[in-house]
Amino acid sequence: MQSLKDRIRAEATVIGTDILKVDHFLNHQVDVDFLQEVGQELYRHFQDEPVTKILTVEASGIAVAVAAAMLFHVPVVFAKKSASLNLDQDTYTSEVFSFTRQTSYLMKVSKRYLSQEDHVLIIDDFLANGRAVQGMIDIVKQAGASLAGVGIVIEKGFQEGGRLLRQQGIKVVSLAIIEAMDESHIEFREEQ
Ligand code: 5GP
Repeated sequence: MQSLKDRIRAEATVIGTDILKVDHFLNHQVDVDFLQEVGQELYRHFQDEPVTKILTVEASGIAVAVAAAMLFHVPVVFAKKSASLNLDQDTYTSEVFSFTRQTSYLMKVSKRYLSQEDHVLIIDDFLANGRAVQGMIDIVKQAGASLAGVGIVIEKGFQEGGRLLRQQGIKVVSLAIIEAMDESHIEFREEQ
């Protein structure tokens, strides 16, 4: 998605060698018009799938998932990362190692909101080592649901998540794939 790549080049900052900050438009302040374009692009790639639910994980996946879901006209279910008194006790749970926090957490989804009737599209803002997406796939499997695929805004192609998912035969669409980056330049994978 050319407008996404242009925006990453113009506005993103790279921290160290492997964290990209896009707080201007995606992760802290959200540009809703741009988000609508992102939603349309994800919809275009998966519109032939009979999607019944979009699954993401709190917090930063929610905005992107909602933008796509408004075109599919299906509910968004977001996995919760922390125990909460108002979360149902009957949950699908998967342990996930967080790349940005460098610690594990339990990802939970109430059993009310996913079932074997569902055909699930997983959406997230970033794909790095793929742990968050693997946790969501684990939850889809626990529910007995089927997987339509995985839609990602920014994949860091130099980390292993995308490769591992594609090796499993899963359809993974990333709107921008970063091949390499440092503080002075960002290189995108060409075929995107
Ligand atoms: P993974 O589980 O694929 O290793 O990491 C993906 C999750 O970590 C995403 O849900 C995203 O929130 C966060 N993440 C991973 N890398 C980055 C990054 O470079 N920048 C930002 N803002 N978030 C990231």
